[in-house]
Amino acid sequence: MDRIYLYVPPEEYAGVEAYGASWDEDAKCWYVPEHLSPAVFSRWVEDEGSEFGISSDEAFVVSAKGECVQCRREIEVVCIYCESGVDVERDEPLMRFTVSAIWAIDEVLAAALARWPLFRRELREDIDEGCFANHCAHCGAVQEDYRLHSEPGDVFFNVAEAEPGSIALVPLTGRVRLSGDYAFGV
Ligand SMILES: [Zn+2]
Repeated sequence: MDRIYLYVPPEEYAGVEAYGASWDEDAKCWYVPEHLSPAVFSRWVEDEGSEFGISSDEAFVVSAKGECVQCRREIEVVCIYCESGVDVERDEPLMRFTVSAIWAIDEVLAAALARWPLFRRELREDIDEGCFANHCAHCGAVQEDYRLHSEPGDVFFNVAEAEPGSIALVPLTGRVRLSGDYAFGV
């Protein structure tokens, strides 16, 4: 496993040590020890003004039932939903949005998404790294995000006002950072 290094200003060394971070003498850098979750250190996992476009302290994985676009069998599909967050580049607060076409996630979110191995990068020959997308558990077909997010009636179009019981929300601990397109439903 790759070590997760932390970005800690010197005045916060005592704080990060109190949370249980380990010190790498060679790299002169704090890192997350294996027995602790990166979520504990979320405020130090990425530098301010990082490469991530969206930051959220109230993020969820939304799970729903869908139909595979290819084999038509019932599958689980997931997306990321945030009760609140920030557009990092514009420094604008965001409310109640889903994120589609995700192309970058931080370590905290990567660890959380390990529970949903079928939600992973789409491998494409024309680009080095595709966006995250759901994959069918039966036939492996990619379920493109635009089919799940774009239109009224699409399963993730309006998560904030979804029918009770039609979706399951799994809260994520700590701050997550990711890059993708956010949408608010209507
Ligand atoms: Zn399928």
